[in-house]
Amino acid sequence: MDTAVFRLDGVTKRYGELVALDNATLEAGANEYISFLGPSGSGKTTLLRVIAGFEAPEAGRVHFQGRDITNVPAHERGIGFVFQNFALFPHLSVIQNVGFGLTHGKSGLTPAQVEQRALEMIELVGLSGMEGRGVDQISGGQRQRVALARTLTMQPKLVLLDEPLGALDANLRGRMRNELRAIRERLGVTFVHVTGSETEALAMGDRVVVLDRGRIIQIGAPGQVYDHPASPDVAHYLNRFNLFDGKLNAGIFTGAFGAVPVPAAVKGDRDVYAVRYDRMQAVPVGTATAGPSLRATFIASEYLGSAVMNFFDAGDGHVIEMEHHLSLGAPQEFEPRQDYLLTWNPEQAIVFGREVR
Ligand code: ADP
Ligand code: MG
Repeated sequence: MDTAVFRLDGVTKRYGELVALDNATLEAGANEYISFLGPSGSGKTTLLRVIAGFEAPEAGRVHFQGRDITNVPAHERGIGFVFQNFALFPHLSVIQNVGFGLTHGKSGLTPAQVEQRALEMIELVGLSGMEGRGVDQISGGQRQRVALARTLTMQPKLVLLDEPLGALDANLRGRMRNELRAIRERLGVTFVHVTGSETEALAMGDRVVVLDRGRIIQIGAPGQVYDHPASPDVAHYLNRFNLFDGKLNAGIFTGAFGAVPVPAAVKGDRDVYAVRYDRMQAVPVGTATAGPSLRATFIASEYLGSAVMNFFDAGDGHVIEMEHHLSLGAPQEFEPRQDYLLTWNPEQAIVFGREVR
């Protein structure tokens, strides 16, 4: 019995010489929220397009609801897709846009039933009262909701969202995140959500899939990916770690901060020492520190609402970030252009090495 809603088995997609997807294998369960994180060009959109059936893979299979759909045309797959640059029909009203697929498809519904279902979806995405408006008479965030409602009216079991929140301001983005999760719970839909934002990926996904140059480099629960990035690249894309190059040899990492004993390390493709932004402390120069330390010049701080980010220059152009959560108390004040010692508990560092067994 196949309980996965969809499954990719070794999917490879090439554009000429370029390998946009390299042997991608992944499955998602019913009612799961999966977020895809990866830099621009890593293959996120290509992966969604292969699942939806807009691109045929050169190798591998796509399964949906227990059936091999690799050769099934997109319009027969029953998979919903909200595109990165979604387009609404400008001459139609909100409700006409939302009901479009049912009116013009083979739904077999009467016009009254189509209207009923469209109204339900309009309510679900919080647009009640705007049914009759033209889509040029509503805001960008509201148009995004219309695009989502238009997809949901078709009652897909799988909805693919390609950076749907990118065009929204921070405030609206936060609200839409909560609403998407609530919709998922109400309708029992599996969502695959592509985002370039690590914050969004970690906040929204039951599981996070990290893509890099067409390859899936880690799959895991947000906490697992965050606490145990599988490689220096994952740590980099999470944008939560200071990364130091250096050399790991016989349990000692030698980097800009000197030589530090490393009790445990993760096998990686290069030697990298990673310290989370919120695991760094700054003390006056001359203070004796228990752990490793690195002298750096304070540049500036930035308030983020629930935290303060402090930026230091380690002298070699390497900017080091130190995050202070305001729930832990008032932030330290630093003098611009003054030197401090940055220090951390070495047991909290994550170290990658080529020579780890
Ligand atoms: P992402 O969505 O992660 O930014 P894409 O899936 O759009 O990445 O693209 C992955 C790679 O495939 C990129 O190098 C991109 O330039 C290339 N690519 C995407 N679509 C095409 C296409 N239709 N023809 C040729 N190359 C493409
Ligand atoms: Mg894309």
